[in-house]
Amino acid sequence: MLTPLYREIRPEGWLRRQLEIQAHGLSGHLHEVWPDVRESAWIGGACEGWERVPYWLDGLIPLAHLLGDESLIRTANRYVHSIIARQQEDGWICPCAKEERAGYDAWAVLLIGKVLALHCAFTDDQAAEDALYLAMKNLHNLLQSGEIRLFDWGKFRWYEGYVPLLHLYSKKPEDWMPDLARMLRDQGAEYENFTGLWKRPMNKWTFETHIVNICMMLKSEALCCSLLGEAYTGKAGRLLAILERYNGTAVGTLTGDECLSGTGNQQGTELCAVVELMYSYSWLYAVTGDRQWADRLEKAAFNALPATFTDDMWAHQYDQMVNQPACIAFPGKSFFRTNNSEAHLFGLEPHYGCCTANFSQGWPKLALGSMLRSCAGVVIAHLLPASMQTDLDGKSVCIRVKSDYPFRHSASITVSAREPAAFELAVRVPAWAKDVRLNGKKAAIRSGHIRLRRTWQGETELTLTMTAAPHMVRRPGDLRAVEYGALVFSLPVETEYRMKEYTQNGVARSFPYCDYELIPQSPWNYGFAGRALCVREHPIGDVPFSSLQPPLTISASMAQVPWDWADGYDSVPAAYPASRTAITPAREILLVPYGCAKLRMTEMPLCRDT
Ligand SMILES: [Zn+2]
Repeated sequence: MLTPLYREIRPEGWLRRQLEIQAHGLSGHLHEVWPDVRESAWIGGACEGWERVPYWLDGLIPLAHLLGDESLIRTANRYVHSIIARQQEDGWICPCAKEERAGYDAWAVLLIGKVLALHCAFTDDQAAEDALYLAMKNLHNLLQSGEIRLFDWGKFRWYEGYVPLLHLYSKKPEDWMPDLARMLRDQGAEYENFTGLWKRPMNKWTFETHIVNICMMLKSEALCCSLLGEAYTGKAGRLLAILERYNGTAVGTLTGDECLSGTGNQQGTELCAVVELMYSYSWLYAVTGDRQWADRLEKAAFNALPATFTDDMWAHQYDQMVNQPACIAFPGKSFFRTNNSEAHLFGLEPHYGCCTANFSQGWPKLALGSMLRSCAGVVIAHLLPASMQTDLDGKSVCIRVKSDYPFRHSASITVSAREPAAFELAVRVPAWAKDVRLNGKKAAIRSGHIRLRRTWQGETELTLTMTAAPHMVRRPGDLRAVEYGALVFSLPVETEYRMKEYTQNGVARSFPYCDYELIPQSPWNYGFAGRALCVREHPIGDVPFSSLQPPLTISASMAQVPWDWADGYDSVPAAYPASRTAITPAREILLVPYGCAKLRMTEMPLCRDT
């Protein structure tokens, strides 16, 4: 099993800038501007006392420590200590009275356990370790005695409790820990029973088709293997085959607004689902070592994640769409199946506030997983710019990756060891990579990785190069999407940002944490008039996924086709064009990374005779 190097890893280059943008944006200021965190019941206030503060801390803690940002570390510590200070004598840690426990959804117990385990991994906080131990022991006692039971969210997210249990078990195993794990599973939902519900959108809200539940669940078997020593049977792959066939998107996510929504390219995907999918894939890669999970993680992380924030990361969408040429509130009936008419606006808490708190984990956990410890040494899971210093073979070793991946397809890796240190350095090679070379020579790849087992001494420089060809992939309805390496490309639509400042239910939206409608200022109804695709590299600016200065473009010959809005709407395109016959001469269009294009078309037809 691969494990994170919590305290040893430091993001660099564009990845660090991205984390800094997040820290300067809503994540780093949520406790100042949002009542559900600022005045949360978790710290003695009168506002929400369930999932919002834990969701936020689950991202803020790794963000603060990876950046070494003392101010954010103090903020995270203050919240953790305030929560611990309110723990009851028997170990119950959530903000609800004793007589209300049976009706309090235990999902929050599992979630705060996950947060405390993360905090402990970054610190030497014995008080937090003790609080976590007591909280999970208390959960064991309450479930065993029948004083509480899992229901609703707790029942559908039972496996989340395995994350804190794994932390405790790895430190000091005790029999009640696997016992609690089995109790959680016994009371929890078995998703293999629900697959029949995933094949056609239901247009109603259910736990069984809830997109965030499903994205979280994908890691459940990997967690069971780790904690209970069971064999991995490939459950995530089996379930994903069904989910992707009936609900897959061009950017490796699933549709769900907020329940599974089918394969339509204008259907929404909730932001919580994007970050939970990434987290599940990171566990699947860590447990199985199978590179497909890291490939899948990158596709979501480098496309769906950046696409759904403004460049300053102060505003986000609840729902993003693959074909999204406008983000304008629906004046009448919502286009979404179970979300309101503003779920696709960029803002503080469009539709609902879960994503406002939960999105914080996306970038930091990706950075945390870029290099991992293996039983033989270290794995570079993602060729992201980062460095780490750790002890290997009893010697201090530093590994540094310099790269602009995924915007470029090369990396320089420096291994520094003052004393001879014997260990394996493995580098994951994405499945799409061609002509993979290490120091100019064709690299040997075994099980998706370059494996260098040797005694390292002094400074060793490795240069890794890969190539990729831009190409079109087929999408439902015989449409095409363009991929290049880990990136998906979209036709950008010129955008006017219309700011909306207001107060609703006592929560202010004022710049920079205001809402925006995005109004299209250029045509979007295009098809591919040729198959040639030509990549152009541009400088990577201060905002890596900039909507104004994309670090890569792909030129394509395109022409407009008859393609109207969906019936009854004037800001959602029909799923498919009325015809594929060009109505304008072809011209060169520069496609940009999906993550850079806030208004975009991604799935488009080949024009007739192309
Ligand atoms: Zn959400």
